[in-house]
Amino acid sequence: MDDVINQAAALIEVHGRSGVTERIRIEINQVRSTLKQNQAAEIPSAKSIVSRVENYLTHINRSSLRPVINLSGTVLHTNLGRARLPDSALDAMRTVGEQYSNLEYDLGEGKRGDRDVHVEELIQLITGAEAATVVNNNAAAVMIALSALAQDKEVPVSRGELVEIGGSFRIPDIMSQSGCQLKEIGTTNRTHPKDYQNAITERTGLLMKVHTSNYEINGFTHAVTDAEVATIAHEHGLPFITDLGSGTLVDLQTWDLPYETTVQDSLKAGADVVTFSGDKLLGGPQCGLIVGRRDLIEKIKRHPLKRALRLDKMTIAALSEVLRLYLNPEKLRQAIPALRDLTRSIEELRKLAEQLRKQISLPGFDCEITELNSQIGSGALPTHTIPSVGIALRPTDGSGTKQLALEAACRALPIPVLGRLHEGALMFDLRTLDSAEALLDQLSQLQL
Ligand SMILES: *Cc1c(COP(=O)(O)O)cnc(C)c1O
Repeated sequence: MDDVINQAAALIEVHGRSGVTERIRIEINQVRSTLKQNQAAEIPSAKSIVSRVENYLTHINRSSLRPVINLSGTVLHTNLGRARLPDSALDAMRTVGEQYSNLEYDLGEGKRGDRDVHVEELIQLITGAEAATVVNNNAAAVMIALSALAQDKEVPVSRGELVEIGGSFRIPDIMSQSGCQLKEIGTTNRTHPKDYQNAITERTGLLMKVHTSNYEINGFTHAVTDAEVATIAHEHGLPFITDLGSGTLVDLQTWDLPYETTVQDSLKAGADVVTFSGDKLLGGPQCGLIVGRRDLIEKIKRHPLKRALRLDKMTIAALSEVLRLYLNPEKLRQAIPALRDLTRSIEELRKLAEQLRKQISLPGFDCEITELNSQIGSGALPTHTIPSVGIALRPTDGSGTKQLALEAACRALPIPVLGRLHEGALMFDLRTLDSAEALLDQLSQLQL
């Protein structure tokens, strides 16, 4: 042990004595147990133990959560952190993380305040809703809304909307977790107003619609519109809530994208409560927004889950800055990275591709410009694709092994470059690429 510690002076200088000696102890114990099982095993030198300790400390000191270059073609990629934040939101997070703030302090009254006030007025202004509150994500928003408004009650939901979003978010499970009884109505492909009407009893808590975010049912189908469900709910004195999932605050048709229900349209159609994500099309931090009728929002805010699901100060800071950008619709598209990426022109992407094709040279691979289709991701317009341009890196000899090796080497870069394997090539969709230089810099470090 002493021998190894003596040789580890340089490591101790950098990482501190206790951490290094603890790790040396672990390495030596491993050698001991190997020797117990196999007396003939080679005893490693002190130097090789020090080098193992160094490798371990390098690994543990490098952040596990790292930036990557997303060239997968999915703009709001759930596995890659969804929306990137605008600068003003990042600055606000830094300020509020660094300093004390009036998070829950009413500066006018000099007494305890409510953290929702930092975003509620903005949400009201943008959506036209009477009231709003925010929680950790949209799954939490759905859960707290159901718990607060329909505990021990029945909630009729169309069989065509019993979605699984991914992970363990399945509407039937969320319902039972919230203490509601799901009453399945209609069929997978067709649900009619009378299905809602017939399902209502004195035990019904509310009517609910769920946006079918990640699939589309085509063919012989019929869904009941928000406005129709709202009318039926209100005839029976019941609230109508709708989970929009992505939920956009601007009509995407403004930028030649297909229509996706806006929060404002849901409210106009008569929804009493609308839930949606902060980090999908809205382009902000991870959170869930709940907007709608004041009495219902107040009930949600008073529910014990609110304390468990409340937003932290940095998310509130980021969200309030992102919402502020929505006050200036002309500048919005450029200000919000997710919207900027979704609306980049083919001409701009083609220019980028031409620049890259000239500068990428990988021995053994052909580099071509290719037409691609990007996706919005995160369950917004699941079957819609946006024409895009990319770079295809194809092994000159058509070798599948080489193609896989390239993909793995790109993943192993200091800033991993994540493309998509498709038609015998590694494709880089350029829609979400900010800087050609950053990509070229990484590719120059490729070890194949
Ligand atoms: C994405 C989604 C959710 C979950 O939202 P998170 O913000 O990821 O928690 C819930 N419902 C629908 C319809 C969705 O699309």
